[in-house]
Amino acid sequence: MLKLDALQVELDAEAGIVRAIDGLALAIRRGETFALVGESGCGKSMTALALMRLLPDSGAVTAGDITLDGTDLLGLPESAMRAVRGGRIGMIFQEPGTSLNPVLTVGRQMLETIEAHTPLRGAAARAKAIDWLKRVGIPEPERRFDDYPFRMSGGQKQRVMIAMTLAAEPDYLVADEPTTALDVTIQKQILDLLRDLQHEQGLGLLLITHDLAVVAGMAQQVALMYAGQIIEVAPADQFFARPQHPYAQALLRALPDAGRRGQPLAAIAGTVPPLTQEFIGCRFAPRCGYAQPTCHATRPELHGPAGRQVRCLLLQDGGPGLVDGPTDDAVVAQAPAAATPGPDAPPLLQVTGLSVSFVLRKPLLGGQPARFDAVKGVSFKVQAGQTLALVGESGCGKTTTGKAIVQLLRHQARIEGQALLDGSNLFELEGAALRDARRAVQIIFQDPFASLNPRMRMAEILDEGLAALQPQTTPDERRARIERITEQVGLRREALQRWPHEFSGGQRQRIAIARALAVSPKLIVCDEPTSALDVSVQAQILNLLRELQRELGVSFLFITHNIAVVEYIADAVAVMRAGRIVEQGACADVLYRPVDDYTRTLLAAVPRMQGA
Ligand code: SF4
Repeated sequence: MLKLDALQVELDAEAGIVRAIDGLALAIRRGETFALVGESGCGKSMTALALMRLLPDSGAVTAGDITLDGTDLLGLPESAMRAVRGGRIGMIFQEPGTSLNPVLTVGRQMLETIEAHTPLRGAAARAKAIDWLKRVGIPEPERRFDDYPFRMSGGQKQRVMIAMTLAAEPDYLVADEPTTALDVTIQKQILDLLRDLQHEQGLGLLLITHDLAVVAGMAQQVALMYAGQIIEVAPADQFFARPQHPYAQALLRALPDAGRRGQPLAAIAGTVPPLTQEFIGCRFAPRCGYAQPTCHATRPELHGPAGRQVRCLLLQDGGPGLVDGPTDDAVVAQAPAAATPGPDAPPLLQVTGLSVSFVLRKPLLGGQPARFDAVKGVSFKVQAGQTLALVGESGCGKTTTGKAIVQLLRHQARIEGQALLDGSNLFELEGAALRDARRAVQIIFQDPFASLNPRMRMAEILDEGLAALQPQTTPDERRARIERITEQVGLRREALQRWPHEFSGGQRQRIAIARALAVSPKLIVCDEPTSALDVSVQAQILNLLRELQRELGVSFLFITHNIAVVEYIADAVAVMRAGRIVEQGACADVLYRPVDDYTRTLLAAVPRMQGA
């Protein structure tokens, strides 16, 4: 058994001592998947690094034990720990691209691991490496053995990492977000593979993830972390059917799905507290809808039978329980709905035969330059006041389609076809008509930090776009509009004087939404607007987008790979593959009665909570 007991990890940061993990205990058995879940910064990855004794220089285990079949890992000399690390306990990380050495072939890297942790050498070691490449589904393993990592796709590199880790025949595997960077079809292959190998070899798996649907399909036991502590631990089926801790309940209610369509998601107000402070009461109290005065003064401990424990004062033996219901769960005010045109109204945006191709390189001696066709003749329409979701895996052309419509590719790509917005072809506009079109079609990007100028305050960021696209407005008019929109996206006016780095990820995405709304657009292209956000923050942003659509009648072209978000927010869906739309129609038809084989494969690969 791999056991962590009363583990405490501290980091020496600029802001002071950060207690990243505080009193964590868990046990992983062979043949079992133990999932450690929680939102960013809760201490999941730090737990894995502490377990492998790979903490950064600024971090240290300050209390507690880590034992492997009774052996104290924290007391082992580094030479002995090296044999455990990669030998008895393997580890796979989220980003395979950075975990593989780019200047060595994958075969060379596999041989290093096999020779370090098994008695095999020479031809026998090579045969074992090739056998593992085959087992993880790498085609032509003998040939790919001599390939460098850059010649492989993200999914193949992750499979090489798994092959390399498992070739050392570990008893336990620590997998930190092993599929987060992958498309759903590759994710399914990797998770199926891990499940098979676990059955065959009796691996004990510590699965660290923020994706509750992945956990539902894989884990037997779940521990939920919040602010450096485990706050609930339970068998997976019980955790999903009857979560006990108020945070666990809120997190599951914040997940979008078809059943919650038309209703606001339960956003969790506030943010995770900084771990530099000394906590007196419950760490979740400032955000908890059930909090009582005692919660702010008394520190709750984990209690309950082994394997089914919760850290909440009200749920302790003799406690009152969670009787009165959440008192301050975020309630989203229902704004009056904007008038939506009837089903026969002409579409707001009608795209016909859109093709986008990029020049890869110009030949030195003349002739035709090599081109890459990213989008190949796609046609779709977006109705006024509605949401069309454009879904598909990475590289399918969905972002290129969105950028072409927002006119971001005019000088970089050859664009053919038509995009009629209110009857005018966006691709043929010039001068004032082009400026009006740029105002009418706005975009929100995936990474709100990268899309905001770090040297401008929020007020300047919003004013810049407004002044450029509506030059006739006076500074006073613009200030009044900016203040109104700031409130509309749920930020306070004081925020206008702050810099982007002073906001959380969710707040930054609100600024990006405010910037798009400032110029009164008719259509907003939302390019994966919530995929970089935690579930509770995602709920806030989805609620905001729904509310703005209802209030202002704005349309969304919603680019995403997250089918649960599509189920929740979209009216219509178009599925893209390799630059083409393979299927489109009303949301319910495409998602529940797909006719195209690829759509079926894509939907079948999506992990579901109902699997719990
Ligand atoms: Fe909420 Fe109080 Fe329980 Fe903490 S102890 S989770 S504040 S009810």
